[in-house]
Amino acid sequence: MPVSSQIVNDIGVIVFSNPPLNPISATAGIPQGIAAELDALEAQPGVRAIVLAAEGRMFSAGADISEFDRNAAEVGGPIRALIARLDACRLPLVAAIQGSALGGGLEVALGCDYRVAAQDARFALPEVTLGLIPGAGGTQRLPRLTGAVRALEWIAAGSTITAKTAHEAGLADALAEGDLRAAALAFAARVAADGRRRPRDLPLNTEGFDEAVAALRAKPQNPGLRMAVEAAIAAVSAGQGADFDAGLAEEYRIFDALLVSEPARALRYAFGAERAVARVPGLDPALRAAEIRRVAVIGAGTMGIGISLAIVQAGLQARVIDLNPEALERARARSEATILRNRDRGRLSEAAATAQIAALSYSSDFSDVKGHDLIIEAVFEDMGVKEKVFTELDRLADPGTILASNTSTLDVDRIADFTARPEDVVGLHFFSPANLMKLLEVVRGAKTSQQTLATVMGFARQIRKVGVVAGVCDGFIGNRMFEEYLRQAYLLLEEGALPAQVDGAMERWGMAMGPLRTMDLAGQDIGWNIRKRRAAEQPDRPYSRVPDLICEQGWFGQKTGRGYYIYAEPGAKPGVDPEVEAMIVAESARLGLVRRQISDEEIVERCLFALTNEGARLLEEGIAARPLDIDTVWMNGYGFPRFRGGPMFYADRVGLPKVAARMAEFAKGNQGWAWAAAPLITRLNTEGRGFAALNEGAK
Ligand code: NAD
Repeated sequence: MPVSSQIVNDIGVIVFSNPPLNPISATAGIPQGIAAELDALEAQPGVRAIVLAAEGRMFSAGADISEFDRNAAEVGGPIRALIARLDACRLPLVAAIQGSALGGGLEVALGCDYRVAAQDARFALPEVTLGLIPGAGGTQRLPRLTGAVRALEWIAAGSTITAKTAHEAGLADALAEGDLRAAALAFAARVAADGRRRPRDLPLNTEGFDEAVAALRAKPQNPGLRMAVEAAIAAVSAGQGADFDAGLAEEYRIFDALLVSEPARALRYAFGAERAVARVPGLDPALRAAEIRRVAVIGAGTMGIGISLAIVQAGLQARVIDLNPEALERARARSEATILRNRDRGRLSEAAATAQIAALSYSSDFSDVKGHDLIIEAVFEDMGVKEKVFTELDRLADPGTILASNTSTLDVDRIADFTARPEDVVGLHFFSPANLMKLLEVVRGAKTSQQTLATVMGFARQIRKVGVVAGVCDGFIGNRMFEEYLRQAYLLLEEGALPAQVDGAMERWGMAMGPLRTMDLAGQDIGWNIRKRRAAEQPDRPYSRVPDLICEQGWFGQKTGRGYYIYAEPGAKPGVDPEVEAMIVAESARLGLVRRQISDEEIVERCLFALTNEGARLLEEGIAARPLDIDTVWMNGYGFPRFRGGPMFYADRVGLPKVAARMAEFAKGNQGWAWAAAPLITRLNTEGRGFAALNEGAK
């Protein structure tokens, strides 16, 4: 039974169970079950109060997000009806909260008169992160417990609140010293005689509210979240009239409208996609990841430093091995400085910082690769160097150790064949800075074993990265698509746009950083090398000389003070560079192109549909298993806005027929021959389907 009840010394106890997260799901019968038990207990003359408790490690993770794509009445209805039933109860109600009380779960607890919490309980109304607001009274009841200012602050940020803070703020009425259920029963017995104290009947403290709203509006916010934050302000404001039910109705109205909004749809999709990537098609789900504790990182350069930091931040040991003792010393100094900076900024305790530093060790002796569960190679991007390293690893590493390469562009299958154990070899493509970036492309070689793949996916989770499986090709999922995105940015410059317009259009649309600024940040010399190679390898794709002209000046971006923009210092705001603009205009003339006014809309469509088209090719080739894998790569590694859901999801929302029609238009323009639609897009259009069809069953 998902919901049951009993009576303990005149106190009714309702317990619901929907493991492991206890969502208040109507499909699982939870809200209906609680209401039925309430009816039964209320009908018992001896019962003086009721405790509402949940089985398992957490009280409730809230509503079931997988049910949110239904119509608004079905989504909000059952929890709202349950809370209305709690409101109508004649007996005092006490919620007993362990683990987390999130979203709809917390709203149910707010429908009770009191909340008794375990010491380590956590509270949150995180709906804003899904482009929503609480939609079952959270914006109306929480302010009456904590004051409107605090409630708005928490709701607008989706903050997680500790039990201690919740207690101080009035959200929790007591913290359990020992057994939570016993503490809640004792609390209920104490308050039983007082009658009800419904949050809806409490006075509302609005002191400082206008200032809090102004401060919230002054904060920079991405356009996707801004909408939900404004909605939160509107809903909490609506609760300040005399009529509680009118405020509640306004909250319901706002929630129901947001539920079907584009940002909320995309954020829900992103949430599901980031979980679905861990379920790798074709990988036996029964396979357990082997435990990884000791990791060796070969190469103490930019990536070796970032990767080893990511490892020790997750509580594992990292041994960094480099033949160059100076590189090792530099790595040690930089890593320690990063850890100490995190400590000084309050992100790490003194003890945690000391432990991280102690977990890092350095060696210039290659035989130290022994005794590790996983070895990650991050040496120079050169097949000859990789061959030397993997031959040595094969000779020296313990049997069963996973051998991973962080290569960005080289063939992982060839690297695997440098060893006699290609089944243990895999690509682990980190993004820079590797200690901060969430994405980890896991490159599955032709001979990579299922067990190796399962273990490195587990390792990705362990070090708190989002692991996405990709097949072997030059650039894998992310960088292969990024090249097409950049290609359009360069062609737009030739045709009439200037760098600030291209970047501005993409950033206003929601990208964290425009393509040209991104190249200035990453360092254009790396891209230049790859482009030179591509010009020979891919004669079937158009080539723009614009970035080469800039590189030929030695202007590689922030690190040289100049790139597409001028930088007063690294990290400084990009300034317009008239010389670069003149070079671009001269290149248009050389090509015989009459520069034209290009709309932001065209910039956005060309850059994005180039991504979609290349993404479709990756799906055809099996490099990416599902559109959601591609979208997750873009949202976690390239600053693609989550509220747009990734390039494949976005194309579906635009409509694939329209995407194909726009591509056909672009095909008539400069270098239009590059705009041949991927056959998959044509096929999906013929079948009247979108990319979403290829995700089905995955979530
Ligand atoms: P880097 O030049 O900063 O560092 C490479 C390090 O490898 C140097 O310290 C060097 O001394 C060491 N090294 C060279 N040969 C060695 C050998 N035989 N044995 C041991 N150590 C050796 O390079 P990086 O930017 O850190 O890149 C490393 C790898 O990561 C490359 O394959 C690169 O393509 C890949 N990668 C780089 C980035 C990035 O943004 N920089 C991102 C993803 C992947």
